[in-house]
Amino acid sequence: MPTGKKILITGATGLVARTAAEALGERNEVWCLGRFRDPEVERHLRERGIRTWRWDMAGDADGFDGVPDDFTHVLHAAVERGSGDFEEVVAVNSVATGRLMAHCRGAEAFLFVSTSALYAPRAPDHRHTEADPLGTESAWLPTYPVGKLAAEGAVRALAVTLGLPTTIARLNVAYGPHGHGGLPVILHKMMLAGEPIAVPRTGQEYCSPLHTDDIARQLPRLWAAADTPATVVNWGGDEVVGVRDLMSHVSRLTGVPVDFAPGDVTRGVVAFDVTRRRNLAGPCETSWREGVRQVLAAHFPGMVKPYP
Ligand code: NDP
Repeated sequence: MPTGKKILITGATGLVARTAAEALGERNEVWCLGRFRDPEVERHLRERGIRTWRWDMAGDADGFDGVPDDFTHVLHAAVERGSGDFEEVVAVNSVATGRLMAHCRGAEAFLFVSTSALYAPRAPDHRHTEADPLGTESAWLPTYPVGKLAAEGAVRALAVTLGLPTTIARLNVAYGPHGHGGLPVILHKMMLAGEPIAVPRTGQEYCSPLHTDDIARQLPRLWAAADTPATVVNWGGDEVVGVRDLMSHVSRLTGVPVDFAPGDVTRGVVAFDVTRRRNLAGPCETSWREGVRQVLAAHFPGMVKPYP
Protein backbone atom coordinates (compact mmCIF):
# COMPACT_ATOMS: atom_id res chain seq x y z
CA MET A 1 0.00 0.00 0.00
CA PRO A 2 1.31 3.49 -0.81
CA THR A 3 2.12 5.82 2.08
CA GLY A 4 2.10 9.62 2.28
CA LYS A 5 0.44 10.12 -1.11
CA LYS A 6 -2.36 12.55 -1.95
CA ILE A 7 -5.14 10.57 -3.57
CA LEU A 8 -8.41 11.59 -5.23
CA ILE A 9 -11.14 8.97 -5.55
CA THR A 10 -14.52 9.17 -7.28
CA GLY A 11 -17.20 6.54 -6.78
CA ALA A 12 -16.06 5.81 -3.21
CA THR A 13 -19.65 5.50 -1.99
CA GLY A 14 -20.17 2.55 -4.35
CA LEU A 15 -19.20 -1.11 -4.33
CA VAL A 16 -15.92 -1.02 -6.22
CA ALA A 17 -13.96 1.89 -4.76
CA ARG A 18 -15.01 2.04 -1.11
CA THR A 19 -12.75 -0.75 0.19
CA ALA A 20 -9.78 0.80 -1.63
CA ALA A 21 -10.63 4.29 -0.33
CA GLU A 22 -10.76 3.05 3.25
CA ALA A 23 -7.54 1.03 2.93
CA LEU A 24 -5.66 3.94 1.33
CA GLY A 25 -7.08 6.37 3.90
CA GLU A 26 -5.06 4.67 6.65
CA ARG A 27 -1.70 6.02 5.43
CA ASN A 28 -2.45 8.66 2.80
CA GLU A 29 -4.37 11.90 2.37
CA VAL A 30 -7.49 10.72 0.59
CA TRP A 31 -10.18 12.93 -0.93
CA CYS A 32 -13.43 11.35 -2.08
CA LEU A 33 -15.56 13.30 -4.56
CA GLY A 34 -19.23 12.56 -5.20
CA ARG A 35 -22.82 13.47 -4.43
CA PHE A 36 -22.95 11.36 -1.23
CA ARG A 37 -26.59 10.52 -1.67
CA ASP A 38 -26.24 8.19 1.33
CA PRO A 39 -25.08 10.42 4.24
CA GLU A 40 -24.21 7.34 6.34
CA VAL A 41 -21.51 6.33 3.87
CA GLU A 42 -20.05 9.83 3.92
CA ARG A 43 -20.03 9.71 7.73
CA HIS A 44 -18.15 6.37 7.68
CA LEU A 45 -15.56 7.76 5.27
CA ARG A 46 -15.06 10.92 7.32
CA GLU A 47 -14.69 8.89 10.52
CA ARG A 48 -11.69 7.27 8.86
CA GLY A 49 -10.08 10.64 8.24
CA ILE A 50 -11.06 10.76 4.57
CA ARG A 51 -12.05 14.15 3.17
CA THR A 52 -15.30 14.30 1.25
CA TRP A 53 -16.24 16.88 -1.35
CA ARG A 54 -19.52 17.47 -3.22
CA TRP A 55 -18.99 16.88 -6.93
CA ASP A 56 -21.67 16.03 -9.49
CA MET A 57 -20.44 14.63 -12.79
CA ALA A 58 -23.58 16.01 -14.42
CA GLY A 59 -22.98 19.55 -13.10
CA ASP A 60 -22.69 22.53 -15.44
CA ALA A 61 -19.43 23.78 -13.96
CA ASP A 62 -16.39 21.54 -13.52
CA GLY A 63 -16.96 21.49 -9.74
CA PHE A 64 -13.30 21.70 -8.74
CA ASP A 65 -13.32 25.19 -7.18
CA GLY A 66 -11.63 24.63 -3.81
CA VAL A 67 -10.33 21.15 -4.68
CA PRO A 68 -6.50 20.95 -4.58
CA ASP A 69 -4.77 20.12 -7.86
CA ASP A 70 -1.66 18.46 -6.47
CA PHE A 71 -2.95 14.90 -6.20
CA THR A 72 -0.38 12.20 -6.83
CA HIS A 73 -2.87 9.44 -7.70
CA VAL A 74 -6.44 9.37 -9.00
CA LEU A 75 -8.96 6.51 -9.01
CA HIS A 76 -11.96 7.43 -11.17
CA ALA A 77 -14.71 4.89 -10.47
CA ALA A 78 -17.86 7.07 -10.51
CA VAL A 79 -20.23 6.24 -13.35
CA GLU A 80 -23.54 7.45 -14.72
CA ARG A 81 -25.01 4.22 -16.10
CA GLY A 82 -28.06 6.00 -17.49
CA SER A 83 -31.65 5.03 -17.91
CA GLY A 84 -32.14 5.21 -21.64
CA ASP A 85 -30.75 8.58 -22.74
CA PHE A 86 -27.62 7.78 -24.78
CA GLU A 87 -26.78 11.43 -25.43
CA GLU A 88 -26.80 12.21 -21.71
CA VAL A 89 -24.72 9.19 -20.70
CA VAL A 90 -22.05 9.84 -23.33
CA ALA A 91 -21.85 13.55 -22.50
CA VAL A 92 -21.87 13.25 -18.69
CA ASN A 93 -19.26 10.49 -18.44
CA SER A 94 -16.93 11.88 -21.11
CA VAL A 95 -17.05 15.53 -20.06
CA ALA A 96 -16.72 14.84 -16.32
CA THR A 97 -13.84 12.46 -16.95
CA GLY A 98 -12.09 15.01 -19.16
CA ARG A 99 -12.53 17.76 -16.56
CA LEU A 100 -11.21 15.47 -13.82
CA MET A 101 -8.11 14.55 -15.82
CA ALA A 102 -7.47 18.19 -16.71
CA HIS A 103 -7.74 19.17 -13.05
CA CYS A 104 -5.36 16.37 -11.98
CA ARG A 105 -2.95 16.73 -14.90
CA GLY A 106 0.07 16.81 -12.57
CA ALA A 107 -0.65 13.40 -11.04
CA GLU A 108 1.78 10.50 -11.18
CA ALA A 109 -1.01 8.12 -12.19
CA PHE A 110 -4.69 8.21 -13.18
CA LEU A 111 -6.76 5.02 -13.21
CA PHE A 112 -10.08 4.90 -15.04
CA VAL A 113 -12.36 2.00 -14.13
CA SER A 114 -13.87 0.74 -17.37
CA THR A 115 -15.86 -2.44 -17.93
CA SER A 116 -15.87 -5.91 -19.45
CA ALA A 117 -19.31 -4.98 -20.84
CA LEU A 118 -17.69 -3.30 -23.82
CA TYR A 119 -16.39 -6.52 -25.37
CA ALA A 120 -18.35 -7.93 -28.30
CA PRO A 121 -20.04 -11.24 -27.44
CA ARG A 122 -18.09 -14.42 -28.29
CA ALA A 123 -18.60 -18.04 -27.22
CA PRO A 124 -19.74 -18.02 -23.54
CA ASP A 125 -16.48 -19.57 -22.30
CA HIS A 126 -14.19 -17.43 -24.51
CA ARG A 127 -11.49 -15.75 -22.45
CA HIS A 128 -11.31 -12.20 -23.73
CA THR A 129 -7.93 -10.54 -24.12
CA GLU A 130 -7.46 -6.78 -24.33
CA ALA A 131 -7.17 -7.16 -28.13
CA ASP A 132 -10.58 -8.80 -28.59
CA PRO A 133 -13.26 -7.01 -30.64
CA LEU A 134 -15.36 -4.40 -28.86
CA GLY A 135 -19.13 -4.00 -29.08
CA THR A 136 -21.63 -1.92 -27.19
CA GLU A 137 -24.78 -4.04 -27.16
CA SER A 138 -26.24 -4.65 -23.72
CA ALA A 139 -29.76 -6.00 -23.35
CA TRP A 140 -29.92 -5.29 -19.59
CA LEU A 141 -28.54 -1.72 -19.70
CA PRO A 142 -28.12 -0.40 -23.27
CA THR A 143 -26.57 2.99 -22.40
CA TYR A 144 -23.90 1.58 -20.07
CA PRO A 145 -21.23 0.17 -22.42
CA VAL A 146 -21.76 3.09 -24.84
CA GLY A 147 -21.01 5.57 -22.05
CA LYS A 148 -17.96 3.61 -20.91
CA LEU A 149 -16.50 3.32 -24.42
CA ALA A 150 -17.04 7.04 -25.00
CA ALA A 151 -15.31 7.81 -21.69
CA GLU A 152 -12.42 5.51 -22.62
CA GLY A 153 -11.95 7.68 -25.72
CA ALA A 154 -11.79 10.83 -23.61
CA VAL A 155 -9.33 9.13 -21.24
CA ARG A 156 -7.02 8.06 -24.06
CA ALA A 157 -7.10 11.53 -25.62
CA LEU A 158 -6.32 13.36 -22.39
CA ALA A 159 -3.66 10.87 -21.28
CA VAL A 160 -1.71 11.73 -24.42
CA THR A 161 -2.47 15.45 -24.72
CA LEU A 162 -1.82 16.15 -21.04
CA GLY A 163 1.04 13.66 -20.70
CA LEU A 164 -0.83 12.14 -17.75
CA PRO A 165 0.23 8.51 -17.08
CA THR A 166 -3.00 6.53 -17.22
CA THR A 167 -4.37 3.03 -16.80
CA ILE A 168 -7.71 1.96 -18.25
CA ALA A 169 -8.75 -1.06 -16.18
CA ARG A 170 -11.65 -2.97 -17.72
CA LEU A 171 -13.29 -4.44 -14.66
CA ASN A 172 -15.07 -7.79 -14.69
CA VAL A 173 -17.75 -8.80 -12.15
CA ALA A 174 -16.77 -7.10 -8.88
CA TYR A 175 -18.25 -8.20 -5.57
CA GLY A 176 -17.73 -7.07 -2.00
CA PRO A 177 -19.24 -6.04 1.32
CA HIS A 178 -20.23 -2.47 0.35
CA GLY A 179 -22.83 -0.82 -1.87
CA HIS A 180 -24.94 -3.09 -4.05
CA GLY A 181 -22.56 -6.00 -3.36
CA GLY A 182 -22.11 -7.05 -6.98
CA LEU A 183 -23.63 -9.78 -9.14
CA PRO A 184 -23.90 -12.57 -6.50
CA VAL A 185 -25.74 -10.21 -4.12
CA ILE A 186 -27.95 -8.65 -6.80
CA LEU A 187 -28.97 -12.08 -8.11
CA HIS A 188 -29.49 -13.43 -4.60
CA LYS A 189 -31.94 -10.60 -3.94
CA MET A 190 -33.82 -11.76 -7.05
CA MET A 191 -33.83 -15.32 -5.66
CA LEU A 192 -35.27 -14.02 -2.38
CA ALA A 193 -38.01 -12.28 -4.36
CA GLY A 194 -38.78 -15.56 -6.14
CA GLU A 195 -37.53 -14.25 -9.49
CA PRO A 196 -35.69 -16.54 -11.93
CA ILE A 197 -32.06 -16.02 -13.00
CA ALA A 198 -31.67 -15.65 -16.77
CA VAL A 199 -29.17 -18.08 -18.32
CA PRO A 200 -28.41 -19.07 -21.93
CA ARG A 201 -30.54 -21.74 -23.59
CA THR A 202 -27.57 -24.11 -23.58
CA GLY A 203 -24.62 -24.28 -21.23
CA GLN A 204 -23.84 -21.24 -19.11
CA GLU A 205 -22.09 -17.89 -19.41
CA TYR A 206 -18.82 -17.31 -17.61
CA CYS A 207 -17.22 -14.39 -15.77
CA SER A 208 -13.98 -13.62 -13.90
CA PRO A 209 -15.21 -12.33 -10.52
CA LEU A 210 -12.95 -10.09 -8.45
CA HIS A 211 -13.35 -9.40 -4.72
CA THR A 212 -13.01 -5.77 -3.66
CA ASP A 213 -10.15 -6.78 -1.30
CA ASP A 214 -8.18 -7.86 -4.38
CA ILE A 215 -9.22 -4.63 -6.15
CA ALA A 216 -7.76 -2.63 -3.25
CA ARG A 217 -4.58 -4.75 -3.19
CA GLN A 218 -4.00 -4.55 -6.94
CA LEU A 219 -4.83 -0.87 -7.42
CA PRO A 220 -1.37 0.50 -6.46
CA ARG A 221 0.33 -1.83 -8.94
CA LEU A 222 -2.07 -0.79 -11.69
CA TRP A 223 -1.25 2.84 -10.87
CA ALA A 224 2.42 1.89 -11.20
CA ALA A 225 1.62 0.55 -14.68
CA ALA A 226 0.07 3.87 -15.82
CA ASP A 227 1.59 5.21 -19.02
CA THR A 228 1.07 7.46 -22.04
CA PRO A 229 -0.61 6.30 -24.23
CA ALA A 230 -2.83 4.70 -21.60
CA THR A 231 -2.18 1.13 -20.47
CA VAL A 232 -5.28 -1.03 -21.04
CA VAL A 233 -5.76 -4.06 -18.82
CA ASN A 234 -8.51 -6.61 -18.19
CA TRP A 235 -9.18 -6.35 -14.44
CA GLY A 236 -10.74 -9.67 -13.52
CA GLY A 237 -10.12 -12.41 -10.97
CA ASP A 238 -7.88 -15.44 -11.52
CA GLU A 239 -10.77 -17.91 -11.65
CA VAL A 240 -13.33 -18.26 -14.43
CA VAL A 241 -16.76 -19.05 -12.98
CA GLY A 242 -20.04 -19.99 -14.65
CA VAL A 243 -23.08 -17.97 -13.56
CA ARG A 244 -25.03 -21.22 -12.92
CA ASP A 245 -22.16 -22.49 -10.75
CA LEU A 246 -21.91 -19.12 -8.96
CA MET A 247 -25.58 -18.93 -8.09
CA SER A 248 -25.83 -22.65 -7.21
CA HIS A 249 -23.04 -21.98 -4.70
CA VAL A 250 -25.01 -19.00 -3.35
CA SER A 251 -28.13 -21.16 -3.08
CA ARG A 252 -26.23 -23.86 -1.15
CA LEU A 253 -24.83 -21.23 1.23
CA THR A 254 -28.13 -19.50 2.00
CA GLY A 255 -30.64 -22.29 1.45
CA VAL A 256 -32.63 -20.04 -0.91
CA PRO A 257 -33.69 -22.01 -4.00
CA VAL A 258 -32.45 -20.78 -7.37
CA ASP A 259 -34.61 -21.00 -10.48
CA PHE A 260 -32.69 -20.73 -13.76
CA ALA A 261 -34.66 -19.43 -16.74
CA PRO A 262 -33.02 -20.32 -20.07
CA GLY A 263 -33.58 -17.65 -22.73
CA ASP A 264 -32.00 -15.37 -25.30
CA VAL A 265 -31.52 -12.34 -23.01
CA THR A 266 -28.98 -12.84 -20.23
CA ARG A 267 -26.73 -10.59 -18.12
CA GLY A 268 -24.06 -10.81 -20.83
CA VAL A 269 -21.04 -11.31 -18.57
CA VAL A 270 -17.75 -12.37 -20.15
CA ALA A 271 -14.69 -14.32 -19.02
CA PHE A 272 -11.21 -12.77 -19.13
CA ASP A 273 -7.73 -13.82 -20.06
CA VAL A 274 -6.01 -12.10 -17.12
CA THR A 275 -2.39 -12.70 -18.21
CA ARG A 276 -1.66 -8.97 -18.48
CA ARG A 277 -3.25 -8.18 -15.12
CA ARG A 278 -1.29 -10.95 -13.40
CA ASN A 279 1.94 -9.66 -14.94
CA LEU A 280 1.20 -6.10 -13.78
CA ALA A 281 -0.50 -6.66 -10.43
CA GLY A 282 0.25 -10.22 -9.31
CA PRO A 283 -2.17 -12.99 -8.33
CA CYS A 284 -5.48 -12.65 -6.51
CA GLU A 285 -5.68 -13.68 -2.87
CA THR A 286 -9.42 -14.28 -2.44
CA SER A 287 -10.90 -17.45 -3.96
CA TRP A 288 -14.39 -16.95 -5.36
CA ARG A 289 -16.11 -19.57 -3.20
CA GLU A 290 -14.81 -18.16 0.08
CA GLY A 291 -15.11 -14.56 -1.14
CA VAL A 292 -18.77 -15.04 -2.07
CA ARG A 293 -19.43 -16.65 1.31
CA GLN A 294 -17.93 -13.64 3.13
CA VAL A 295 -19.84 -11.15 1.00
CA LEU A 296 -23.19 -12.91 1.45
CA ALA A 297 -22.59 -12.96 5.22
CA ALA A 298 -21.99 -9.19 5.11
CA HIS A 299 -25.10 -8.41 3.07
CA PHE A 300 -27.48 -11.00 4.55
CA PRO A 301 -26.51 -11.35 8.23
CA GLY A 302 -27.55 -14.67 9.74
CA MET A 303 -28.49 -16.25 6.40
CA VAL A 304 -25.24 -17.96 5.48
CA LYS A 305 -24.86 -21.54 6.70
CA PRO A 306 -21.52 -22.47 8.30
CA TYR A 307 -19.37 -24.91 6.32
CA PRO A 308 -20.11 -28.53 7.38
P1 NDP B 1 -22.01 1.89 -7.85
O1 NDP B 1 -23.29 1.92 -8.62
O2 NDP B 1 -21.91 1.04 -6.63
O3 NDP B 1 -21.59 3.36 -7.47
C1 NDP B 1 -21.59 4.37 -8.43
C2 NDP B 1 -20.74 5.49 -7.91
O4 NDP B 1 -20.73 6.54 -8.87
C3 NDP B 1 -21.23 6.01 -6.59
O5 NDP B 1 -20.13 6.22 -5.74
C4 NDP B 1 -21.87 7.34 -6.98
O6 NDP B 1 -21.69 8.29 -5.93
C5 NDP B 1 -21.03 7.74 -8.18
N1 NDP B 1 -21.78 8.62 -9.07
C6 NDP B 1 -22.84 8.28 -9.83
N2 NDP B 1 -23.32 9.34 -10.48
C7 NDP B 1 -22.52 10.39 -10.10
C8 NDP B 1 -22.53 11.78 -10.41
N3 NDP B 1 -23.43 12.31 -11.23
N4 NDP B 1 -21.57 12.55 -9.86
C9 NDP B 1 -20.67 12.03 -9.01
N5 NDP B 1 -20.62 10.73 -8.66
C10 NDP B 1 -21.55 9.92 -9.20
O7 NDP B 1 -20.86 1.49 -8.88
P2 NDP B 1 -19.79 0.32 -8.75
O8 NDP B 1 -19.00 0.53 -7.53
O9 NDP B 1 -20.47 -0.96 -9.01
O10 NDP B 1 -18.89 0.63 -10.03
C11 NDP B 1 -17.77 1.48 -9.93
C12 NDP B 1 -17.08 1.52 -11.27
O11 NDP B 1 -16.72 0.20 -11.68
C13 NDP B 1 -17.95 2.10 -12.38
O12 NDP B 1 -17.15 2.90 -13.20
C14 NDP B 1 -18.43 0.88 -13.13
O13 NDP B 1 -18.67 1.16 -14.48
C15 NDP B 1 -17.25 -0.05 -12.97
N6 NDP B 1 -17.59 -1.45 -13.06
C16 NDP B 1 -18.29 -2.06 -12.04
C17 NDP B 1 -18.54 -3.41 -12.10
C18 NDP B 1 -19.26 -4.13 -11.00
O14 NDP B 1 -19.30 -5.39 -11.02
N7 NDP B 1 -19.82 -3.44 -10.02
C19 NDP B 1 -18.10 -4.24 -13.25
C20 NDP B 1 -17.42 -3.47 -14.26
C21 NDP B 1 -17.14 -2.15 -14.15
P3 NDP B 1 -22.86 9.17 -5.32
O15 NDP B 1 -24.16 8.51 -5.64
O16 NDP B 1 -22.57 9.25 -3.86
O17 NDP B 1 -22.65 10.47 -6.00
